[in-house]
Amino acid sequence: MELRVRALETVLTQKGYIDPEALDVLIDTYQTRIGPRNGARVVARAWTDRTYREWLRRDATAAIASLGYSGRQGEHMVVVENTPTQHNLVVCTLCSCYPWPVLGLPPTWYKSAPYRSRAVREPRGVLAEFGVRLAADTEVRVWDSTAEVRYLVLPMRPPGTEGLDEDALAALVTRDSMIGTGLPLAPPARAR
Ligand code: FE
Repeated sequence: MELRVRALETVLTQKGYIDPEALDVLIDTYQTRIGPRNGARVVARAWTDRTYREWLRRDATAAIASLGYSGRQGEHMVVVENTPTQHNLVVCTLCSCYPWPVLGLPPTWYKSAPYRSRAVREPRGVLAEFGVRLAADTEVRVWDSTAEVRYLVLPMRPPGTEGLDEDALAALVTRDSMIGTGLPLAPPARAR
């Protein structure tokens, strides 16, 4: 795969379609500056601010942009909220559509054919492999991302986090918990 990508990059560069230096800047930006910590800030804000949470439900794109997170692959955001009766899981069955401004670049497994097909066919099996066990009566909803719409899962706030501020809450929000293949971390023992 790496060789194929390099070959493609060489041809496109020779034809003058891309500038390798611009490509490096883009990749570096999404790898080191933009990543799941952005999404974690969104979730932590939603956990502590009811007005913000309602704004997220109504217009996620604007609510997320208000924190400074917007741009390519995040032009039309939808936030799906986990509840005791519904767990949300995000996939792109066609390719690898992913909300870059809030989560950075997608993990390799997200782009893999097995995840893309099994997330829809047997979501509970996939969740179990990620170590997520849900109550039998919790419904699993699978959201298929597209070039137009990107989803961010709003996980449930973990119990025992009542005294935590937004920074401490954001530290509990994992990337996978915002894709739906994970749950937020438990708070450190002394905070309970
Ligand atoms: Fe895609």
